[in-house]
Amino acid sequence: MDQIFGQLIDGEWESSGEQIPNINPSDVTDTVGHLASATEAQVEDAISAARAAQPAWEDVKLEDKQNMLFNIGQELMDRADEIGTILSREEGKPFAEGRGETMFAGKFYKYYAAECLRQIGESAASVRPGIHIDVTREAVGVAGLITPWNFPIAIAAWKMGPALAYGNTIVLKPSEVTPATAHILGEVLNKHLPKGVFNLVQGGGKVGAALSSGKVDAVSFTGSVSTGRKIAAAAIQNMARIQCEMGSKNPIVVMDDADIDLAVSSCLHGAFGASGQKCTASSRLIVHKDIHDEFVEKLTQGAKAKRVGHALEDGTELGPVVSESQMNKILSYMALAKEEGGELVTGGERVQKNTEGYYLPPTIYTNTTNDMRVNQEEIFGPMTCIQKVDSYEEGLAMANDTEFGLSASIMTQSLKRATHFKRYARFGATLVNLPTAGLDYHVPFGGRNSSSYGPREQGEHAKDFYTIMKTSYTNPG
Ligand code: NAD
Repeated sequence: MDQIFGQLIDGEWESSGEQIPNINPSDVTDTVGHLASATEAQVEDAISAARAAQPAWEDVKLEDKQNMLFNIGQELMDRADEIGTILSREEGKPFAEGRGETMFAGKFYKYYAAECLRQIGESAASVRPGIHIDVTREAVGVAGLITPWNFPIAIAAWKMGPALAYGNTIVLKPSEVTPATAHILGEVLNKHLPKGVFNLVQGGGKVGAALSSGKVDAVSFTGSVSTGRKIAAAAIQNMARIQCEMGSKNPIVVMDDADIDLAVSSCLHGAFGASGQKCTASSRLIVHKDIHDEFVEKLTQGAKAKRVGHALEDGTELGPVVSESQMNKILSYMALAKEEGGELVTGGERVQKNTEGYYLPPTIYTNTTNDMRVNQEEIFGPMTCIQKVDSYEEGLAMANDTEFGLSASIMTQSLKRATHFKRYARFGATLVNLPTAGLDYHVPFGGRNSSSYGPREQGEHAKDFYTIMKTSYTNPG
């Protein structure tokens, strides 16, 4: 009997509901288990359980809360091989990345364990003599968290760590594409936290819609822009706080004075890591004309050398993409790149392996322009497009010519250009001589324009979303 991935409500598992098979994208004959989709009533029950548990959770002794979060982080790290294997099996990223993501998730819980003890308020002098003012932060209440499939354990961690540390209770709705990772995460959390503090509802957009329009106090979402718009519109009906982190079209500008080998390795990592299925993927490479041909040649060699294969096979550098529909969408963008006038230098079609899976090779198009749809729309696959520019100024303007704004990078040895780029690239993260992907966890993360809505995630700034300020006045008499 296959495992059922169901709901965790008030500390109890419920596995009724419509069942959907969870297919391994490296081998479509392998079913990882079945997701049991939550009903609207179960979503309401999960919210009620979180509501009932919240006041006591907010008042838990700080050191006890700290220990619980630390122990969650430690258990994830101790079990990183086992959990990373499940993650890679259902999502398709190579095992090293699945394991690495699990370790990364553990670090968030440990970071926010320490944050439990750093909840320090402010005091102010009053404009009225003899009056004292305190400014403190309190939990917002019940947080509804809706997450995507591409980092199923890390994104949940970077939302749950601060939500819990600052006294909120949770209903998590993970992606329907990665229910097994969410299930095992639920088991770990249920072991360490009081009943009702963490609740899990599994399923697709309908379940997410029930949560975002439910009686929660805050909704934090990561996913596509189109879903983010729907979620924000639903959550505002209840005046819930809203935080949306969404897609992007991240550029690397490669200047004529760049260290070319570093530029090539950074672009390979940024464009093809996790098969390009990262919100920070380097999908636009903007290259100075004087080094363009050499750069393209070296990048192509590097892309061809990447080993595509089963996520759990030794030596795999690119696993399959996550699902058949995702693969078909990426293939349609590959066809579009040609139609729009792009020149294919490597990749461009599905590849066959020993097992039947959704395998796509690293794909590069040259001769593209920024107004092409392939340079304006998020593709979310192992495909990157190169554009040629005559100057730094043209490169910067092209980088900024996008509706998104998550992360942007420049490869240069000029301090002047690097400094100017950091200031004038209109993105939430700017990087120098680094890929657009691969950011630290203890500092703010988020974008601009359509990439982001609401306060930043991660680091101590996460408290701006998960806490509400109170200003108290005292007349000691
Ligand atoms: P998606 O928008 O399709 O789904 C994300 C989540 O929303 C899933 O849990 C899904 O079930 C749920 N959902 C779908 N419709 C809904 C609705 N109407 N109401 C409520 N919930 C709904 O995104 P995806 O395909 O899972 O993930 C890929 C996207 O995520 C990409 O656009 C990527 O850039 C983005 N992403 C952004 C970041 C970031 O931090 N900026 C990080 C990772 C991924």
